[in-house]
Amino acid sequence: MVQQVSRFRRIVNVNVLPGEPLDGSGRVCIHLFVRDEKGTCVEPGAWHPVNDKLGNPIPRKIKTGPARGRLACDRKRKITPAIKNGVTTVTHRTEDPRAITCPKCMATEEYKAAMTKLGIPTEG
Ligand SMILES: [Zn+2]
Repeated sequence: MVQQVSRFRRIVNVNVLPGEPLDGSGRVCIHLFVRDEKGTCVEPGAWHPVNDKLGNPIPRKIKTGPARGRLACDRKRKITPAIKNGVTTVTHRTEDPRAITCPKCMATEEYKAAMTKLGIPTEG
C-alpha cells in the first residue's frame, strides 16, 4: 500500500503572547468569550444550562449549542478562522476565565467579574 501524502501544506497561524518565543514553546493567546446579544460572533459549541419546567437550571445538566457574543478585549473582532494567502489564522477563546492568557482580556471588568464569580481574586 502506498501512502498518499498531500502536496498541499496547511499553515495555521497561532497568535503567541507578546515576548514569548515563536519556536512553538511560547504561550498561546487565549481570549475571554463574553456572551452578548449584540456581539459580533456566534460560538457554535457553547455550553448552556438545562432548565426544569419552572425555568430553574438543573444541577450538572448542560447542553451545547450556539451562543452570540464577543471577545472581552475587542468587541468587533471575528472569531471564525480567516484564510489569507494560504495561511489560516485562528482565534483561541473560552468562557472559562481561568484559561485566559490575553493581557487585554485580563484587564477587562468582565474578566475580573468572571474570576470573582469563581471565588478567585484578581490583582487591581
Ligand atoms: Zn483578548
